[in-house]
Amino acid sequence: MVVYDLICKKNHRFEGWFPSFEGYQQQAEKGQISCPTCGTTKVEKMPHACAVLTKREPNREQPPAQKASRPPLTDAEAKEMLLRLHHYVRENFDDVGPRFAEEARAIFSGRSEERSIYGTATQEEREELDEEGVPHTTLPKPNLDS
Ligand SMILES: [Zn+2]
Repeated sequence: MVVYDLICKKNHRFEGWFPSFEGYQQQAEKGQISCPTCGTTKVEKMPHACAVLTKREPNREQPPAQKASRPPLTDAEAKEMLLRLHHYVRENFDDVGPRFAEEARAIFSGRSEERSIYGTATQEEREELDEEGVPHTTLPKPNLDS
């Protein structure tokens, strides 16, 4: 199972769940994916992963032992958890869209108010942020095949 951020020609964003990337491609080619807001089938996959910068809080890191002792999630639980996570981020974080890398840098260097943001970043931008030591997270997408 994979989830993609999709965007229609009127810029409505939504998530689509597919059995696999091939499944997405087949449905897209047949025009079977429609926007839940306006119903158009002119829909594209957003090119970038959703990236998140959280406010720095002390002791946020969980000890590895705690992770290991957690029972494995079922597919349904994992999906539910990620949906909640995405929902939480959208409700509580500041959406900076494609300016994510720029804004993350500004916050990290103190040029911008420290806050939790989310947006999109290319692979290259995320690698640059890593090199500069700017903390950020890529929101996990459920890929239950792996
Ligand atoms: Zn739409």
